[in-house]
Amino acid sequence: MKPAKLLVLLVSASLSLQACSKKTGPSLAEITAQVQNSPAAKTLFAQDGNSLEYFHGVQDDSLHTEKFKHRFNGVEVLGSGVDFHSNDSFQGITPHLSSVTLDTSPSFDASTAKQIAQSLEPKSALQGEPTLKILPQKNTQTARLIYIVPMQDREVLLDAHTKQHIATIADHDNLSASNVKSAASQGIFVTPKFNDSDLQGCELKSLAGIVEDLSVNTCKERISESCQILNSNKEAQSINAQNCVDADESIDASAARAQKNASIYLNYLQLSFHRDGLDGQGTNILSVVHAGQESNNAKWIRKNKLLAYGDGDGVHFSDMTFGVDIAAHELTHGLVQETAGLLGIGESGALNESLADFFGKLAEGNEDWKFGKSVVLDKSNGDAIRDLQNPGSVKEVYFDSLLNAVVAPAPSKRSSAAPMVEPCTPDNDSCSVHFNATIPGHTWYLLYVSLGKSKAEQLVYLALTHYFTEVTDFTDAAKDIIDACKATLTSDDCDQVKAVLSATEMVKAE
Ligand SMILES: [Zn+2]
Repeated sequence: MKPAKLLVLLVSASLSLQACSKKTGPSLAEITAQVQNSPAAKTLFAQDGNSLEYFHGVQDDSLHTEKFKHRFNGVEVLGSGVDFHSNDSFQGITPHLSSVTLDTSPSFDASTAKQIAQSLEPKSALQGEPTLKILPQKNTQTARLIYIVPMQDREVLLDAHTKQHIATIADHDNLSASNVKSAASQGIFVTPKFNDSDLQGCELKSLAGIVEDLSVNTCKERISESCQILNSNKEAQSINAQNCVDADESIDASAARAQKNASIYLNYLQLSFHRDGLDGQGTNILSVVHAGQESNNAKWIRKNKLLAYGDGDGVHFSDMTFGVDIAAHELTHGLVQETAGLLGIGESGALNESLADFFGKLAEGNEDWKFGKSVVLDKSNGDAIRDLQNPGSVKEVYFDSLLNAVVAPAPSKRSSAAPMVEPCTPDNDSCSVHFNATIPGHTWYLLYVSLGKSKAEQLVYLALTHYFTEVTDFTDAAKDIIDACKATLTSDDCDQVKAVLSATEMVKAE
């Protein structure tokens, strides 16, 4: 296999632009204009098996981005690509490129990959066909060809040459949805029908008790009919949002709180970022309450794009619907899924958790940084689940290389991070993602203190929606935050941002 030239060619913006041109190369302004004027799918670059292909555009008030994904021999290189950013006063290019030199023919076939995945995860059923991707190994500047094997409630990542188990990506806990009693979203009561954690369909129930059996797709369509109930003729009837909340409360207080939490989060996205829902398309939020048996957890179920709340056991935690920040945390996982798509493992997973904590607290609107304070009953490890201001005030669990659970004060800088030992699976909290979350989480808090709420939340939001990728790690995130700052804030602001990133060691000391 010939060594890839892409990284060398695109290491600087000027070189990359020349590489894209047959002549002397257009200017950054010209190519940015070209990208903006003809955003149809196209190949920006193709050479030696490497290509940059148009992915999509992202538009916010203060920044516009056109994204191109990197493929090698036609296989997507996760997190690798080039982004063009522009606004009224800025034009820039961000290469997130990984050099790839590997054999893209797997050493075993997809059916063998499925067999291996099934033996690793015997309790979950196979579902769909494996896909081949390339996973960059940033520490060693190499890359691995991997199979991603989809299963009912998780995905198994295998090295497609060595068969090594790299990770199992699952939603964050084992909360069983088999005991779901009711749900609410935007004024419609729903009783989802589950097979384990897989949504099979649902029943719609109006205040008059009318029940309709719906398929998964129809169910989701009906949920998106904001704040409507069915009248006695089974016709959708619109009522205002306040009436929805009031009406639901008479039937199920948890459902009413779930619905209110969803409204608070949607309002937060709209007011702060002019964003219409998690996907930017106005799709409403489907919530399930009373999930699991006295479950001490809330969970964003990626596959069904659904927020499930446990009731709490009444000893360690109360009903999760009492936590607006809990709901907003889980819904931010939905926002991440619709934007950067950060994988929930290792540093990318910890970053995902930190964003959920940060936007969770901001959406809640309280002037404190103790995440989950309103649902914690047993305070033996601290009076919250995590504390972004003083991370060490709360003890968290991490997993050592022998999978022993170790309870320790949560870290506020990178040198105190828990070790990461592959494979990252639910058995080691996907490589201690919740423990390590307070490293970036405390960083976001310090940005809030130093820049103020508005600038800090815009900066972190733009980094998430315009810069981060599936495999962004702490080092990448720090660089992206600085780039997003340069694009939208002043140099004085960016000096403060750099100081914060150094303080928490998101930028590693040389
Ligand atoms: Zn989370």
